[in-house]
Amino acid sequence: TKFSDLKLNPKVLKAIEAAGYDTPTPIQAGAIPPALEGRDVLGIAQTGTGKTASFTLPMITMLAKGRARARMPRSLVLAPTRELAAQVAENFDIYAKGTKLTKALLIGGVSFKEQDQLIDRGVDVLIATPGRLLDHFERGKLLLTGVQIMVVDEADRMLDMGFIPDIERIFSLTPFTRQTLFFSATMAPEIERITNTFLSNPVKVEV
Ligand code: AMP
Repeated sequence: TKFSDLKLNPKVLKAIEAAGYDTPTPIQAGAIPPALEGRDVLGIAQTGTGKTASFTLPMITMLAKGRARARMPRSLVLAPTRELAAQVAENFDIYAKGTKLTKALLIGGVSFKEQDQLIDRGVDVLIATPGRLLDHFERGKLLLTGVQIMVVDEADRMLDMGFIPDIERIFSLTPFTRQTLFFSATMAPEIERITNTFLSNPVKVEV
């Protein structure tokens, strides 16, 4: 598979070329086509396999087809730690460079003020840790009813850190009709239960 075969947004293709990516990794070749078709994806992949791009590239491509900037976030990416969320945000900025899509990084350890301003202005994508996202929600600042694409990254680490109840709560705050891209390095029974509950006929991609 070549990147040019994957039906990605031309600006995204340009950005990954500029980043020096030559060919898609197995998780990218497996996950991007069903994601672009609107299917739920269950990706079993470790860090370092290129999984961040496997959900970010189709997400950007799909969002870029809609309105350039919505008032409500249309996509939500959950990561277990501040560092991982920040990495996803960095990658998003690289891949979405040619588009007008906007993001907010919602993580703890920084003041709410700047994050509030971004949310108020309207962003396309929220990249967040579960606790901070729920903090914003409880403060009445955030509506997740516009979320069309939800990504859960490193679900096995979410489990280790005790975030599964938060994840279930966040799932329940997003529309039933959303598309879900769900990634985990392993399939513990608790992870299996979550995917059975919240994913709809997912395409399983294991690398
Ligand atoms: P990840 O598994 O998402 O943390 O990605 C691991 C590293 O691989 C990151 O530094 C990416 O920039 C890089 N990467 C992702 N996809 C590709 C690709 N298709 N070709 C070359 N490098 C890539």
